[in-house]
Amino acid sequence: MQFTRIGDFEVQRIIEFEGPFIAPEVFFPDYDPAVLRANPDMTGPWLIDPATGKLVFSFHSFIVKTGHHTILIDSCIGNNKERPTRPQFHRLQSPFLADLAKAGVRPEDVDYVMCTHLHWDHVGWNTRLDNGRWVPTFPNARYIMARREFEHWQGVQQRGEESPHRLAFEDSVLPVVRTGQSVLVDDDYALEDGRTSSLWFESAPGHTPGNVVIHARSRDDRAVFLGDVLHHQFQLMAPQWSTLACTDPELSRKTRMRLVEEYAERGTHLLPGHFPSPTAGRIVRHGSAYRYAFETFE
Ligand SMILES: [Zn+2]
Repeated sequence: MQFTRIGDFEVQRIIEFEGPFIAPEVFFPDYDPAVLRANPDMTGPWLIDPATGKLVFSFHSFIVKTGHHTILIDSCIGNNKERPTRPQFHRLQSPFLADLAKAGVRPEDVDYVMCTHLHWDHVGWNTRLDNGRWVPTFPNARYIMARREFEHWQGVQQRGEESPHRLAFEDSVLPVVRTGQSVLVDDDYALEDGRTSSLWFESAPGHTPGNVVIHARSRDDRAVFLGDVLHHQFQLMAPQWSTLACTDPELSRKTRMRLVEEYAERGTHLLPGHFPSPTAGRIVRHGSAYRYAFETFE
């Protein structure tokens, strides 16, 4: 189990699944194999699975222990969820809660759950199945969600659109609203945690309408929980590549290209939502594009 520190914050990563997920030519509508041929050192088996030709993804949550609070960022896929269009994860049975316990976290210890966006693979463990009903997994947590994001998926749900995200809204978001544990916030929400520490949202729309990245600062250290602004390292060779999962591919592209440039310029420490182990790293310039430099921790 990886962990790093951001100042006084202890960060752990709980992996629910890591392995081949989807073919690049399916996932990136603008995919161009010539980009990979021009960067042969970027095509190792840890990035693209040689047997299936699929991109290697990690689906994970981050736990941030601030000294005052325990915060879960993005809650992965979840067990028992009906996801017929995602057969790999349909009615999943994963040891996520046991892995959380190994990280020293019981469900009742979690004070806040924060979601970068409300896609099915970022809200799953918001709830668990209890006697046929979906109940909050974290009984003492407040679930912080961007209002703009919530209202978008509420619309999808009310219109009854066929989508795994609608199913996720129903089984993983609405149950925490019913118990009064949801907190809908603006896109610049900030959680001050002690005098020198905070976590705050920054609007990063496009992948979803209310998508945010989550900044963390403790003393002089900073990092950004990136969610799905980038899904895979290949996008650093071609940051213009949006994905089939983006609600607004053009806006997603704009946001991605702006943030990638900003993070490369500043050397920002990043914690992306799907990069394989060891996940954390920085963006560095490489020719006319970029590369990802992993950072490993003890
Ligand atoms: Zn995702």
